[in-house]
Amino acid sequence: MQISIDHLSMTYPTGKQALQDVTLSLESPSLVGLLGPNGAGKSTLMKLLVAGLLPTSGSIQVDRRPLLQCERELKAKLGYLPQTFGLYEELTVWQFLDYMAALKGIEDSTGAIARAIRDTNLEEKKKCRIRSLSGGQRQRVGIAQAILGDPSFLIFDEPTVGLDPEERINFRNLFSRIAQDKIVLLSTHIIEDVQSVCNQLIVIDKGRILFTGAPARLIQAAQGHVGVFEEADRREEEGFSVTARVNTSCGVSCRVVAVQLPPFAQPVEPTLEDAYMYCVAQGGIR
Ligand code: ADP
Repeated sequence: MQISIDHLSMTYPTGKQALQDVTLSLESPSLVGLLGPNGAGKSTLMKLLVAGLLPTSGSIQVDRRPLLQCERELKAKLGYLPQTFGLYEELTVWQFLDYMAALKGIEDSTGAIARAIRDTNLEEKKKCRIRSLSGGQRQRVGIAQAILGDPSFLIFDEPTVGLDPEERINFRNLFSRIAQDKIVLLSTHIIEDVQSVCNQLIVIDKGRILFTGAPARLIQAAQGHVGVFEEADRREEEGFSVTARVNTSCGVSCRVVAVQLPPFAQPVEPTLEDAYMYCVAQGGIR
């Protein structure tokens, strides 16, 4: 599967421009992390990709056909977990997934539901009513409905919100397994979610693409722009932002991201989080 996004812009009827001239290409197999601050335009992009919104200008092509021409086919191959997701409180987990399987037109629904329940660790809860589930368990039901029927294009909007650290690790591994022969687009502002599993990153801010490429390339672009210094050594200087302050037995150690490191900072290897901060502060990396 190949998805081409060409000069896509989206302005809401309120006049808010949520996306500006976005051009991207997604190809299977890949696990793509979509990173950006709140309000960057991530959900808008995802809604456009599932044809839940119409762009103001530009186009989306799926396997070289305009999205609007193959909308029904795409929907049959699509798993989508939106940020806000309505669950039927009075249904059990199994009944809800059975209902979703019917909507998706899945033929062997029993096998498909059993697989989705197993992959999301919901076996113990399958007979429980949704209203009795915790926030994390409800999120797992949301993920289960998205992976139901083995779709070839999966879109998860903030899928790990409400999950505890162990569950987040399980889901990262699950996303990585799923992505072996599919396109999985994972929107998040949690860097750890994309760090270990994504082969492609898209950084977006204020509706514009700031970076697209491998995580290693983003980290490389931040080389020489990340440093540490002891707060006691700090001089009055501007043009950098302190991203962490750590109290140590020798004083306070500060981590800094800057276009030009201040002379009192010692350069260090950037992490993906540093590189992301650098990219957003720079307004993009070519
Ligand atoms: P993100 O998912 O990155 O947090 P969104 O795509 O939800 O960002 O929002 C991008 C921008 O568009 C924000 O400024 C948001 O307030 C605005 N926005 C989102 N949905 C609507 C809407 N239905 N009407 C008007 N503005 C919207």
